[in-house]
Amino acid sequence: MKSLFLIIGAPGSGKTTDADLIAKNDESFAHFSTGDLLRAEVASGSELGKTIDGFISKGNLVPLDVVVNAIISAIKGSDKKNIIIDGYPRSVEQMNELDKVLAAQNEIVLKSVIEVDVSEDVARERVLGRARGADDNNEVFNNRMKVYLEPITAIRDFYKNKNLLHVINGERTIDEIVSDMSEFIKRVLSK
Ligand code: AMP
Repeated sequence: MKSLFLIIGAPGSGKTTDADLIAKNDESFAHFSTGDLLRAEVASGSELGKTIDGFISKGNLVPLDVVVNAIISAIKGSDKKNIIIDGYPRSVEQMNELDKVLAAQNEIVLKSVIEVDVSEDVARERVLGRARGADDNNEVFNNRMKVYLEPITAIRDFYKNKNLLHVINGERTIDEIVSDMSEFIKRVLSK
């Protein structure tokens, strides 16, 4: 049985960095970032990558089947006991699809959905400051933020009702956030 943790947060919340550090500090964890998985496909130059690039460059969501396929293959391809995925779900449709996939099997159990909470101002400052990709500019940021916020209440409510939502303050140092997140994950796994 694999334990799955999802990490969600606004662009610039630091979710990928946090999850990456957790997996680096504990070898029972594998970490996949949906954004990184999709960017890797773009970088490969494949036809699928070209399609994906059209969505990422505008700050829009990549279609459901592409993303679900990317995360399910990542989970299934990993030999680690614990899996962290950041950047999923980003829509009600994605949330329902994962729920359906999980309900139909008993290999993977969703242990928690961790939201890394930052204000829009902090998110903007970080994204524009790092300028990691072509989508890190003010105009695309505004759209990414809009796309992030639109389903967030429904996503929070869904996981709150299942007692799976855990919110972490993302406006602290990386060390503080990661140690908080890591302690929480250990607590959940020891139950
Ligand atoms: P991120 O690195 O998490 O900020 O993601 C960068 C971009 O990748 C997003 O703006 C989307 O275009 C795409 N992306 C990442 N995760 C998802 C997802 N779960 N569903 C659809 N598109 C996604």
